[in-house]
Amino acid sequence: MTTSRTTSQTTSLTTPRTPSRALTVHQIARPDGMPTPADFAFVESPVPVPGPGTALVENIHLSVDPYMREAMDGDWALHTPLEGRSIGRVTASRTPGLAVGDLVFHRHAWRTHALVTPADVRLLRPVEGVPLRTWLSVLGGTGLTAYVGLTRTARLQPGESVFVSAAAGGVGTAVGQFARLLGAGQVIGSTGTAAKAAHLVRDIGFDAAFDYHDAPLGEQLAKAAPDGVDVGFENVGGDHLEGLIANMRPHGRIAWCGAVAQYNGGAAPAAPRNLYDLVHRSVRLEGFLVRDHRDVQRELEDFAVPHLRSGRLVPDETVVEGIGNVVDAFLAVLRGGNTGKMIVQVGDAGE
Ligand code: NAP
Repeated sequence: MTTSRTTSQTTSLTTPRTPSRALTVHQIARPDGMPTPADFAFVESPVPVPGPGTALVENIHLSVDPYMREAMDGDWALHTPLEGRSIGRVTASRTPGLAVGDLVFHRHAWRTHALVTPADVRLLRPVEGVPLRTWLSVLGGTGLTAYVGLTRTARLQPGESVFVSAAAGGVGTAVGQFARLLGAGQVIGSTGTAAKAAHLVRDIGFDAAFDYHDAPLGEQLAKAAPDGVDVGFENVGGDHLEGLIANMRPHGRIAWCGAVAQYNGGAAPAAPRNLYDLVHRSVRLEGFLVRDHRDVQRELEDFAVPHLRSGRLVPDETVVEGIGNVVDAFLAVLRGGNTGKMIVQVGDAGE
């Protein structure tokens, strides 16, 4: 697997690719615990030809995400093409709604080519100085999750302190940077290695970060924020949520975004034993799903694009090259092998 880390806006992948065959990834077995490459198969076929009302898209960037592990338990049918966020370019069209050369966002990932209708896609309008893949990271569902969690669910106010778990991932690094740009006070994160914690402080602008393996999360958070935190952005669940609750300030808000610690099956972690503390400190704990907030996409772009262009916001991304590495890239996300948003580049962005 070829991996390139980037916190800059230049892609390291420049090799154009004009495949004559299409590759599609299928799930072929239900995993028990951590998935393996044997749960997937690469299926080769001729490049599809668009029929009336459809267009052919050659994919450029694919997103692999933790929710896909849950989908593997049943939402995804076996032996059929998988879904996921993707960005591609229209290369042939038999619909007036899409023209050759259009750049589109759609949900037919895990493949090199996709047949789409205009209703399947959102047209992208690239902005000078902002790489195309950014529409899968801070301008995509990942960024929208961070933005909605902070502004709609937690309703972050200037000067308030913020803690985010899984801080070195796609959502986590967006939360840290957005919180700062929204005027947060102290910004703290937890992650799975000392190197990632150092990266958060050195490169992403966190005030403090720690490795959750070193000591119970509640203890480490208490050390980093002796007065507690106003806003918690929870991505892990279980003992992470319990440790966060223990450190919430009165009238704080927790945006519960995910529970990545339990996606690989096994017994669900016990509910936090200190839930009742929420009552004593008038803390609000609220779950949210980004798909209920698609209407905020425009606001996110209005907020983030000027910061991207000025360099105040630098997306944190791990870019993996080649459709043949998409399974490994997905498994790496589940094991913490990524820093920032994991993106698989399968085509030429022309940048
Ligand atoms: P990500 O954070 O880039 O990747 C997942 C990270 O989780 C890994 O890098 C790993 O980092 C950490 N992790 C894995 N297993 C863990 C465990 N057992 N305990 C603690 N940390 C573990 O993924 P993402 O796409 O940005 O998603 C982050 C969270 O947001 C996930 O929970 C996801 O489901 C959620 N999410 C929710 C919504 C929504 O609509 N509510 C939308 C998008 C994402 P470490 O090295 O730090 O362990």
